[in-house]
Amino acid sequence: MRLSRWFGMTLREPPAGIDAPGQQWLVRAGYVRQSGPGLFSLLPLGLTTMQRLEARLRQMMQALGGQELLMPMVQPAERWRTSGRSDQHGAELVRVRDRRERDVAPALTHEELAATLCAGEVRSYRQLPRLIYQIQTTFRDDARPRAGLAGTRAHTRVDAYSVDADDDGRDRQYQAHQQAFQALFATCGLPVRRAAAAGGVMGDGDARTFVYLMPGGDETLACCSACGAAALHQVARFARPAIAAEPALPLERVATPASTTIDALCATLDIPRSRTAKVVMLMARFPAATPDERFVMALVRGDMDVNESRLCRVIGAAALRPATGDDIARSGAVPGYATPIGLRDLLLVADETLAASPNLVVGANEVGYHLRNFNIPRDAQPTWIADIAAVADGYFCNDCGAPLQLVRGIELATVARLTAHATTTLGATFLDANGRTSPVLMGAYGISIERMLACIAEEHHDARGLCWPISVAPFQVHMIALAGKNPLVPAVVEQVLAELEAAGIAVLVDDRDERAGAKFADADMIGVPLRLTVSANTLAADAVELKRRDRTDAMIVPRAAVVSTVREQIDVLLAECAGRISTSH
Ligand SMILES: [Zn+2]
Repeated sequence: MRLSRWFGMTLREPPAGIDAPGQQWLVRAGYVRQSGPGLFSLLPLGLTTMQRLEARLRQMMQALGGQELLMPMVQPAERWRTSGRSDQHGAELVRVRDRRERDVAPALTHEELAATLCAGEVRSYRQLPRLIYQIQTTFRDDARPRAGLAGTRAHTRVDAYSVDADDDGRDRQYQAHQQAFQALFATCGLPVRRAAAAGGVMGDGDARTFVYLMPGGDETLACCSACGAAALHQVARFARPAIAAEPALPLERVATPASTTIDALCATLDIPRSRTAKVVMLMARFPAATPDERFVMALVRGDMDVNESRLCRVIGAAALRPATGDDIARSGAVPGYATPIGLRDLLLVADETLAASPNLVVGANEVGYHLRNFNIPRDAQPTWIADIAAVADGYFCNDCGAPLQLVRGIELATVARLTAHATTTLGATFLDANGRTSPVLMGAYGISIERMLACIAEEHHDARGLCWPISVAPFQVHMIALAGKNPLVPAVVEQVLAELEAAGIAVLVDDRDERAGAKFADADMIGVPLRLTVSANTLAADAVELKRRDRTDAMIVPRAAVVSTVREQIDVLLAECAGRISTSH
């Protein structure tokens, strides 16, 4: 690529609205432009970098034994209703009515279609195992897309699906993908945290996610620095506090004027939050059930919060929303003073710590009054007593007891096992060696390429611009021609370019008629790992100047040794990338 014909430009000022410095540089250096909320255009430099990443991902998938195919980016919405994911993802899944009055949906991922293809193509155990993958654009309609490329709603994803006859085979593929993902991230110079995740309605509940930690990321992880356990906030467990036994005392009505919040109540009665019951009122929708919603009252101790995704799982709901004033009025509860005592026709779920805590303060369903000495199950009988409390900073690790830390990050990749129920529902079965029909056992693996690009930029930049690792850099060499009035310079640049390209080296040439300072500043911003400068000065010594983007010192290389020296330097940089792999395991 020649900058004299470049479509794009570098910008003097950081773009407004983007806080993350690496993603600012992607815009300033002319890689991406925002085209709308959560929508980005990749300029030629950005696309070239994406294509490098894609090439790496294809290599990885082929090494795993994958065969590439392509499924349509828009799918019949009916498939999503069959699998239950239509409800699970709610508004994230965009539904469009086509001219035949049928709903279609731009895919989030392709589990349904992959299973449907298996239903058609896989008949016998002799055809297993298999691994299929695609690189396709998917669309997730996030409620509040974040600024910067990591907040994209359109994801170019590698989506892979393993297909096995038995659990052992599937576990082998599941493990192999996790190892390959870890190695890929290391090669790309990306430190990632592997964490427990929810598998979704089609998954077996034991999924893993790979998260790049950064402030402002859209996921929250609970991490233990002592034993290394990590889990997404939605699935994180924590060690429950010890509870001292007390005899249950009789219920006692107590005046609590203007005490509609836990904090106000604690101040009024001079008690800690752990002595109160927090009542959270929600409306639940259930998959494939009556269209009506059910009123849900969730109880946690006043020092805890409700984990809504776990609550959803416990009661088997497809979706939850906060109850409105009307919903609450219909239930008979009094907002700010709510209690489950005496209410009918509700789903009551109590957290296990709350259920084990004696003599709590709870509302009296009467404005200005609470009840002391609320005890479960004496005073209210929950439909479920379950683990529905959300983890918080400073809670203790369920595995080792050390304090947990909540950190933010960007989810780059996921691995999950699909349930046999999910694949069977979509018709994916095969005949085993004894002629019996069995469900195919599938694994689902995905990586978002735009997010990887954004996170690599976040990890690899300095005060002057991007510093790509050689493994994903759009070019290996950025050659700068400082011609001045010397007619020899352009001719030598063309010769060196031809020699480097003949050696398989990707070169970006700055052949613009610009000042040296502007060219060097742009080179630093664009961040190609090696910079080669040809000027009248260097040619006087029959040489060129070679400099690493991440170093300050330059070397003078004899003209005749340019290709071999560049090759050597590329090998050094590649070895440094490989070194990161061995040190990261
Ligand atoms: Zn721990």
